Amino acid sequence: MTATIIDGKAFAQTVRDGVARDVATLATTHGIKPGLAVVIVGHDPASQVYVRNKVRQTAEAGMNGFHFELPEDTPEAELIAKVNALNADPAVNGILVQLPLPKHIDESAVVGAIAPEKDVDGLHVVNAGLLASSGGGMVPCTPLGCILMLKDTLGNLTGKKALVIGRSILVGKPVAQLLLAENCTVTIAHSRTQDLASEVAAADIVVAAVGIPEMVKGGWIKPGATVIDVGINRVPAPERGEGKTRLVGDVEFATAEARADAITPVPGGVGPMTIACLLKNTVTATCKQNNIDL
Ligand code: NDP
Repeated sequence: MTATIIDGKAFAQTVRDGVARDVATLATTHGIKPGLAVVIVGHDPASQVYVRNKVRQTAEAGMNGFHFELPEDTPEAELIAKVNALNADPAVNGILVQLPLPKHIDESAVVGAIAPEKDVDGLHVVNAGLLASSGGGMVPCTPLGCILMLKDTLGNLTGKKALVIGRSILVGKPVAQLLLAENCTVTIAHSRTQDLASEVAAADIVVAAVGIPEMVKGGWIKPGATVIDVGINRVPAPERGEGKTRLVGDVEFATAEARADAITPVPGGVGPMTIACLLKNTVTATCKQNNIDL
């Protein structure tokens, strides 16, 4: 058996097309143009690439994009003042502060300053609390992307045994909450889990969000399982030339592909979905703020 490769790039385009349609509807029927503000502090090259992509895709979806680049030594109070100004700006429906922030800034204080209804990254404790209780808040982008891909691949997830490897606030915990909301039977594994191999072998769905290259062995995968690989790891690739590198996931792709029914590649799987879901969340936030049911 060779698995179906879940094409995150194509699926992200489908999500972005839906967002562009919603943005057009908001403009024609309500005279509203969603606005997304992205704030970056410092000059981390990876973050800058990511932010540039966000700004470009925001414009392509027909939304207003507001981009703020603050110097590395920006005091925490100044950043929070910026967030407060964006909270009060009616043209801004979504706010994203690019993480990680420089070490002198307390990330939780900054994320906590974002108005929960504009927190399109879904990281505010109010939104995390809503996800863990009644639902209805903003959902973190990468976890939302994972669930959309799983539902697109499998349809109804009810009753599936799902294993989430990783318990971070950014990925693992929200993915587990979302799977639970889809009526999966959810197990969360982490660095202290005993016998990860047998946990993987029992799972119909595996979501790996660890950050260790190919640590989930293909031979562990239950035949017919669906595998979502969130990990993005850069490893040496001497076969491509001296000093060259390549990206791999947390799952040993070549061997997992031979056992799974469907699997996301790295790159080109979960990664492209993250920005698409950020745009989707911005439309969701705009609709909620204006009591619009699209
Ligand atoms: P964190 O480092 O915050 O969390 C990693 C998790 O993996 C922790 O819960 C840790 O457990 C667990 N872990 C570590 N070692 C093991 C092990 N041997 N067995 C089982 N679990 C283990 O990472 P993130 O959640 O932020 O990110 C995970 C990966 O996803 C990274 O590669 C990151 O680059 C990628 N990522 C990709 C995104 C995308 O857009 N595609 C977006 C966000 C992240 P413990 O809690 O016990 O320490």
